Amino acid sequence: MKYISTRGQAPELTFEEAMLTGLARDGGLYLPAEIPVMTQDEIAALAGLPYEEIAFRVMWPYVSGSFAEDEFKAIIARAYEGFGHDARAPLKQLNENHFLLELFHGPTLAFKDFAMQLIGQLFQVALKRRGDRVTIVGATSGDTGSAAIEAFRGLDAVDVFILFPHGRVSEVQRRQMTTPSDSNVHALAVDGDFDDCQAALKDMFNDFDFRDGVKLAGVNSINFARVLAQIVYYFSAAVSLGAPHRKVSFTVPTGNFGDIFAGFLAKRMGLPIDRLVVATNQNDILHRCLSGEGYFKGDTIPSISPSMDIQVSSNFERALYYAYGEDSGAVAQLMDELKNGGFNVSQGAMEALRESFDSGRASEDETLATIKHTLAHSAELVCPHTAVGIKIAEEHRAADVPMITLATAHPAKFPAAVEKASDVHPPLPSRMSDLYERPERVTRIANDLGALEEHIRRHIAE
Ligand SMILES: *Cc1c(COP(=O)(O)O)cnc(C)c1O
Repeated sequence: MKYISTRGQAPELTFEEAMLTGLARDGGLYLPAEIPVMTQDEIAALAGLPYEEIAFRVMWPYVSGSFAEDEFKAIIARAYEGFGHDARAPLKQLNENHFLLELFHGPTLAFKDFAMQLIGQLFQVALKRRGDRVTIVGATSGDTGSAAIEAFRGLDAVDVFILFPHGRVSEVQRRQMTTPSDSNVHALAVDGDFDDCQAALKDMFNDFDFRDGVKLAGVNSINFARVLAQIVYYFSAAVSLGAPHRKVSFTVPTGNFGDIFAGFLAKRMGLPIDRLVVATNQNDILHRCLSGEGYFKGDTIPSISPSMDIQVSSNFERALYYAYGEDSGAVAQLMDELKNGGFNVSQGAMEALRESFDSGRASEDETLATIKHTLAHSAELVCPHTAVGIKIAEEHRAADVPMITLATAHPAKFPAAVEKASDVHPPLPSRMSDLYERPERVTRIANDLGALEEHIRRHIAE
């Protein structure tokens, strides 16, 4: 499989090359040149298989030129062995036709472990074979950073630097990033918000001297390998509710559009998904855009679902690429307009987006009320991101199609909001109950590209 850039001006790469580089050199995002399709029989045959086997069958066409079959199976096995649930992504029922897909049984209690644990193992195998090392820099609104650190800590071919917005992540999130003692792990608290961190990361990738000098690699949700790993649980969930013989819909608490874009690919691969519902908090650029108001940046407002406090959703560029009929020139032009604040989406592209996506927005009060209601009526304590999803899912649920809401984090990751809503303090799973006692290690740093690049150069392979 060859990988192409959404902006059309970067070289075609193999899966391994696209994974190791992250962002394309023309500023675009890599996508497979063709989306592989699974037949209805192949999808039906997934029912009842272990998660790892479903993962292999779904992902294999995307990676087959870069890894051997047995090698890839072993990578998948190692990626998910540290999860605290044999089903990896279990489904729970909320009411007659609404299900929760629990994606928080990995080592950092959020869905990002599904992709990050896999990518850690993929990097290790690929770099070992090449005799190479890389510097991974990631920007995080909280969950990506801890997941990346857990996935790469202790690997000798990798240094990992994580930029997070100082004071804007939960204490559990911060501690998960600042307490690992491995010398290849570097947590950086940036004086800015998540969009500043993400912009600094993009600037580093566009500074080719720096990029080549430190062998920069990205594992943010722009990395196609991240998206790939997330396709799998759409299949595992749908087949356990009767696909391909029955359609299902998904509601996805959304920030950077990575998780829901994986659902879009699952649909294009042949999984009978009826609706993909984008659920946003008060940072609602995606909901405004899908409501026909254009894609215009606002200010990021801190919320109780901080992993969705995002104004520019990087992966939306991938959805636009397909909505504009794979016209990379049109995408490049839109992204140019975005630098000046935003753009309007053409009528044809809006129609294409609406074929797959619906959207909704939950306020802070609605989110708190949903946590309370879900505990009272379904006996489930949910995190605020998941609550945003449940609220919007109920608004879009159809009687004849099961709705699956992605439960993106464990409630114990966001104890303040959960307790405020429900009067219940969500305990950490016992395997990480000493998190509050471990010493922290973090560097506070200005929101300044020069300062960040210098810090990274000085601390590689210390
Ligand atoms: C990252 C994250 C999201 C948003 O996912 P995207 O792929 O960025 O849309 C939602 N909820 C939680 C808990 C997250 O960590």
